[in-house]
Amino acid sequence: MYSRKTTIIIFWRGLRLRCPACGLGALFDHPYRLQSHCPYCHSRYERASGESVGAIYMNTIITLILAVIGFFVTDSLWNPPVVLQLILWGGFTLSFPLLTYHFMRGLWISIAHLGGSVYPDPDYEREWVAEEQPLRQTGQPKDEQ
Ligand SMILES: [Zn+2]
Repeated sequence: MYSRKTTIIIFWRGLRLRCPACGLGALFDHPYRLQSHCPYCHSRYERASGESVGAIYMNTIITLILAVIGFFVTDSLWNPPVVLQLILWGGFTLSFPLLTYHFMRGLWISIAHLGGSVYPDPDYEREWVAEEQPLRQTGQPKDEQ
């Protein structure tokens, strides 16, 4: 179990788009492409495909809550026409998830790290490569000779 201070640090690392385990490695190497693992501590950011669905759910829920609150606040303060409201909050609903995708993904990876599914795993690549390479005649893997 993590202390409150450590939990805040892990979330802060996620919001800064850094590895939640060490805080050094970047989560993204291109604007919308998540790296497979941290180059410093070898934590895999996504162990199974579909783990990013939680970030998408979180992003969608936050977007809809903000759009509904924004709709009622602008309606009560200025009472703009409904068409203007639809354009404003429809545009917000389409653009906000694209602008916050990275941060939601970073937060979700931080949550996964707190849950125990993102941790340093330096043998991952070696095991993965070993499956692809045939064994030598002795039956021993290359690393053991
Ligand atoms: Zn790391």
